[in-house]
Amino acid sequence: MERSLRLEGHISAEDVRRSPYLYLPVPVPPRASRLHVSYGYSEPVTAPFGMGPGNTVDIGIFDPRGHDFIHAAGFRGWSGSARREFFIAPHEATPGYIRGPLIPGDWQLLLGIERVNPDGVRYDVTVNMTVDERDPSAAETETVHAGPIQAQNKGRSRPGGHPTGRWLKGDLHCHTVHSDGLNTVEEIVDSAVERGLDFLAVTDHNTNTHHEELARLSHLPITLIPGEEVTTYWGHANMWGLREWIDFRCADAESMQAVQRFVLQKGGLISVNHPKSVGPPWLFEGWRGYPCLEVWHAPWRFYNWESLERWDDMLRGGEQVVAVGGSDVHSIPPKRPMHPHGLGNPCTWVYAQGGPSEESILQGIREGHVFISDDPKGAQLILTADADGDGKFEKTMGDTVEAAEGQRVSFRVWTNGGMDRRLWLICDGLPLDVIPLDRSEATHSFSLELSGRSYVRAELRGFRGRADRGEVIWAMTNPIFLKTTA
Ligand SMILES: [Zn+2]
Ligand SMILES: [Zn+2]
Repeated sequence: MERSLRLEGHISAEDVRRSPYLYLPVPVPPRASRLHVSYGYSEPVTAPFGMGPGNTVDIGIFDPRGHDFIHAAGFRGWSGSARREFFIAPHEATPGYIRGPLIPGDWQLLLGIERVNPDGVRYDVTVNMTVDERDPSAAETETVHAGPIQAQNKGRSRPGGHPTGRWLKGDLHCHTVHSDGLNTVEEIVDSAVERGLDFLAVTDHNTNTHHEELARLSHLPITLIPGEEVTTYWGHANMWGLREWIDFRCADAESMQAVQRFVLQKGGLISVNHPKSVGPPWLFEGWRGYPCLEVWHAPWRFYNWESLERWDDMLRGGEQVVAVGGSDVHSIPPKRPMHPHGLGNPCTWVYAQGGPSEESILQGIREGHVFISDDPKGAQLILTADADGDGKFEKTMGDTVEAAEGQRVSFRVWTNGGMDRRLWLICDGLPLDVIPLDRSEATHSFSLELSGRSYVRAELRGFRGRADRGEVIWAMTNPIFLKTTA
């Protein structure tokens, strides 16, 4: 038997200012075998990139096990505004939604109002349920028991791991059909392998239903890192390394802080994404203490100077935030191109101890042993230091070098993409030196007295196309931090 429910209403701009989230209870009877939801709303935004006037209403759903902030045991999926309908059934569901038993009781549809016109927005939701009318005792035997709905996917490492550390290259940010991307998880992962990446984090918006597919592809010669791009109406943040769903319903710095505690306590890692005006930007100014910042998002010319400036400001203020890169790819061939770049643009290089594994890569990032390059085949750039003057350059990006007042410390920058480009050395946000390079592989040495200085980092800059468009960054390092001892 089909049961149908229609939910209509109006949300004022004032309601949205109080909270951008609205819950609509949906009573699900016993023996429901399929839940289908479709929705629409007044005056949707039509201009590209969400420009111009109009409304944007996102959608998701919780089952009766609960929708409490952070500890919402009933999370069953989210599709943002990427789809106008979805379904959940015991053995299948729309990507982004969790298949499994349709637990009877009050489900909560979640509407998220990303944008609202001054006169508010009208919504119209239709819920269709298929209810099994067989004798309840017969149906009982077919009940799919509530329990761990998602397959658990424990840390795995790539076969043939190396016993010592090595540089691994990858991409920390991309999307699939599980949110607003156009490709399947398999297509995205195949493309990452083809492009020679050693690791890939798949970070769909506000859901974790792609993790199970990553586990299924774990035999491929690439380390797959489960992620979620926590997508709030005040900015986006990537969370890597957790299997469970991470709450995104944050509307202030305190709730972001609570999500951060949850993720870090469980051993995950966090990056604030695309902190630039076209990001969408990062507006949780009061939230601090996150470990990473996506300083390089998509090709450099996409406003990344802005993010770089923000990062230098943080470093100058003493926040040791690790710069990472992410392509934010939403489509690759054969699907319709949504942007002019692919996975690994940019490419994040991580020094992983003990061979490639999810944990060694996340640990390398945590320690800041990271540089970023425009492409997997692009320039590499490595900054090291000899802290004790023994001729061995044992300190690298992310490390801290200590030296006594007045003592000089030697540094070395190595690159293999230097031809006709310039090496910029940056100390405390200001250029220390600019060195023109005339060959591809080059090593530049310099020394510094540390007193009063707090970090040094390197960039490889050069033209891309016409000189009047100015330089771009081809590769950049994380800083070596400097400390003067008494
Ligand atoms: Zn984003
Ligand atoms: Zn993204």
